[in-house]
Amino acid sequence: MRVTQLLIPTTKETPNDATIASHIYLLRGGFIQGVGSGLYNYLPLGKKVLDKVRAIVKDELDKASCQEVSLGFVTPASYWKDSGRFDKYGKELLRFKDRKNNDFVLGPTHEEMMVNLIKQTVKSYKSLPINLYQINLKFRDEIRPRFGLMRGREFLMKDGYSFHSSIEDMQREFAKMEDTYRKIFTRLGLEFRVVEADSGAIGGSGSKEFMIIADSGEDTIVICDSCEYGANIEAGIKKPRVAQAEAPEAIYAKFHTPNIKTITDLSRFFRVDPYYLIKTVAKRALLDDGKSKIVIFAMRGTEELQEVKACNSVNANELVDISEDELRDVGVIAGYISPTIVPDEVEVVFDNELKDGNSLICGSNEENYHLVGIDLKGYEAHYSDIIAVQEGDSCPHCSGKMKYTKGIEAGHIFQLGTQYSKPLKATFLDENGKSKNFIMGTYGIGVSRLLAGIIEQHHDDKGCIWSKETAPFAITIIISNIKDQNQVELAEKTYQTLKDNGIDALLDDRKERFGFKIKDFELIGTPLALVIGKNLSDGFVELICRRNLEKQNLEVEDIIKVLKELC
Ligand code: ATP
Ligand code: MG
Repeated sequence: MRVTQLLIPTTKETPNDATIASHIYLLRGGFIQGVGSGLYNYLPLGKKVLDKVRAIVKDELDKASCQEVSLGFVTPASYWKDSGRFDKYGKELLRFKDRKNNDFVLGPTHEEMMVNLIKQTVKSYKSLPINLYQINLKFRDEIRPRFGLMRGREFLMKDGYSFHSSIEDMQREFAKMEDTYRKIFTRLGLEFRVVEADSGAIGGSGSKEFMIIADSGEDTIVICDSCEYGANIEAGIKKPRVAQAEAPEAIYAKFHTPNIKTITDLSRFFRVDPYYLIKTVAKRALLDDGKSKIVIFAMRGTEELQEVKACNSVNANELVDISEDELRDVGVIAGYISPTIVPDEVEVVFDNELKDGNSLICGSNEENYHLVGIDLKGYEAHYSDIIAVQEGDSCPHCSGKMKYTKGIEAGHIFQLGTQYSKPLKATFLDENGKSKNFIMGTYGIGVSRLLAGIIEQHHDDKGCIWSKETAPFAITIIISNIKDQNQVELAEKTYQTLKDNGIDALLDDRKERFGFKIKDFELIGTPLALVIGKNLSDGFVELICRRNLEKQNLEVEDIIKVLKELC
């Protein structure tokens, strides 16, 4: 293509709301155009890149025997009511009515639709397993759409769903999809990590996320510094902490602790390691049908509550903060909360690491008093893993130490089991003629988010750096001086020959200054640029590598030979 014929509205100015590299460069490079919060148009360059990424995803999935389908974007609410998600999904689900007053939703994910598709078409175990996917629009009315394509409201997702007659077969496919996703992410030139994940609103067990490693990532992941173990902070586990200090010997007693409320103050007051203090966090847990309850989460003073784990431990949809007044109304004294002395209507969840703990200190549920000498040996309560892995904690699998890093969640695979096939009554007949619910797996990739992820990892202070596999064009041919007939002729000839050889070149034939064209090349980021300039009179042109901006002189006769090798 010729730049003069292509819509590439590059700009110098950084848009106001763009703070991360991918958002800035995709807008400035004329790849995308903002339409509204979390809504984007893809311009010709953006569409080309999107199609290339999509093609890689499709190629690997097709090789893994997945079949592409395309399901409706507008989905009947009845499916969502049957699965129970119509009420549960929350405000991200965009609901609307048609002229006949029927309820619909814009698909944020397609489990319900896919289960219904299979329910109507697959009757016997003989047709299993089957893995169907689509690469289509999704809509989620995100509370905070931001970072451009990273968190849009309308976005492109590859969503795949597999159906099996046994758990073992589903697990086999899950492993195959992990492998397939690894191939996709590798082909895209991404540095990534596959981590253990929380199952979120979709539920189910056994789930892994594909994280693109980038400082701008919204997810915190914990990784071991010596083995392969990695997890989203929402799901990360560690070896239980061991005491670093002597236990404070004390018999059970109430202690006057005027105005001492925080772990730091308590630790100083009693001169004990926070390991021996019980930290409590009170929250209101929002449940189904508008119900809620107050929950006190108790853990060692050395630990931090992990909200997603905490939320899962009480089967809540969300945890929200609760005021001191609300607590007082039910008889709980903030700052002096005791996990063992609580009113009936308040639920308490103890962290697993408190099990059988002794020599502990905690609140007394009385203003200005704490209890010492608490022994939880044999104490029966609701125990769960509710704490976050911290940097320096011990890896659960080896002797390594855990550290934090930031990641962009670009893929997510789940072992779903019968979570959807049961409520949606989707069954098949097994070898013995018995009716069974399909066992499912589900596999997602944020295709449009990948564009942002690629640029987050591959850019410099001048613009995008696309790889050969993802670039909008293989090379930009820059005519340095459009008035120089020799330059124009060679550029035209080279452009044509490259095209004839199947190399997708972009010819910058604009009547602009050389510096302006170079800046656009650096911003758009094709892997190479061929500059046809002054040196042509000596028989040379210049080849620039976008990645390191290294320049090399090429003899005119060698241009095609070299480019056929590089492109
Ligand atoms: P997140 O935690 O980032 O909100 P999610 O866990 O809700 O994502 P999934 O339901 O797992 O997302 O969806 C599958 C994939 O779709 C994600 O791994 C991600 O790559 C992509 N995705 C999800 N939400 C968005 C969004 N708002 N914009 C772009 N891509 C998205
Ligand atoms: Mg996810």
